[in-house]
Amino acid sequence: MLCLFCKKESGGSRSVEHIVPESLGNTTGTLPPGVVCDKCNNYFALKVEKPFLEDPTIVSLRFHQGVPSKKRRIPPLSGTLGPGLPVTVYRHLDGPTAGIIDTTTEAFRWMASSESKVVLSLPSPSDEWNEVLVSRFMAKAALESMASRLLDSPEGLSSLVDEVQFDPIREYARYGIGKLWPVSMRRIYEADKAWGASAGEVVQRVWEWGFLHTNRGEVYFVLALFGLEFSINLGGPVVEGYRMWLEENSGRSPLYPDGIE
Ligand SMILES: [Zn+2]
Repeated sequence: MLCLFCKKESGGSRSVEHIVPESLGNTTGTLPPGVVCDKCNNYFALKVEKPFLEDPTIVSLRFHQGVPSKKRRIPPLSGTLGPGLPVTVYRHLDGPTAGIIDTTTEAFRWMASSESKVVLSLPSPSDEWNEVLVSRFMAKAALESMASRLLDSPEGLSSLVDEVQFDPIREYARYGIGKLWPVSMRRIYEADKAWGASAGEVVQRVWEWGFLHTNRGEVYFVLALFGLEFSINLGGPVVEGYRMWLEENSGRSPLYPDGIE
């Protein structure tokens, strides 16, 4: 068996690869050991997923939306208290927003002696993303999602490894080779949108994905994370075809062909 990214023998690998990090709530979208070798798995964890998860936009979304890491911990958020005194806020998993506030003695004294209401300021989620991080992450997830659809077919999987058409996106994901691979980013629903579930309970969607085959012969991998939709072209570093497709389809997301309820 050969690795999807470095194309080296991966038969002895032991790591399960997560298409979207487990820290974003993904436990089902995985690839068995060997599809991605241990070395590539480790590289992506450290060089692509970690910086992506630590990006201020993601940290803020995980904090505000209460999405725990795989160690069941919500990342803390830094903010300020009153006249700009630094604080770190830790959020309990099933508790109120402000769990524990970590601050300096100076800030604590100020708070204790303050006669007016104490104001805690925390950065709110923004839709400003670090394009390079998002793009490397999307390139990796796109190829892995394609592999996940071929798990029942060893020939299909090995032809995906051999397919030279995907070598540019493969090398961009794994080695950062090539110029920035653009990603279309837009919001398709609010981050905290509540969705009706079958048993009358309400669920929150953290991530979902799919593929779009356009009539121009392009293939896009589309991923939504906290209501933000990202699309990447598997065939080349251009995203114009996706914008054209959106125009022709009234801006509907390929993930929601019938619109969003
Ligand atoms: Zn590899």
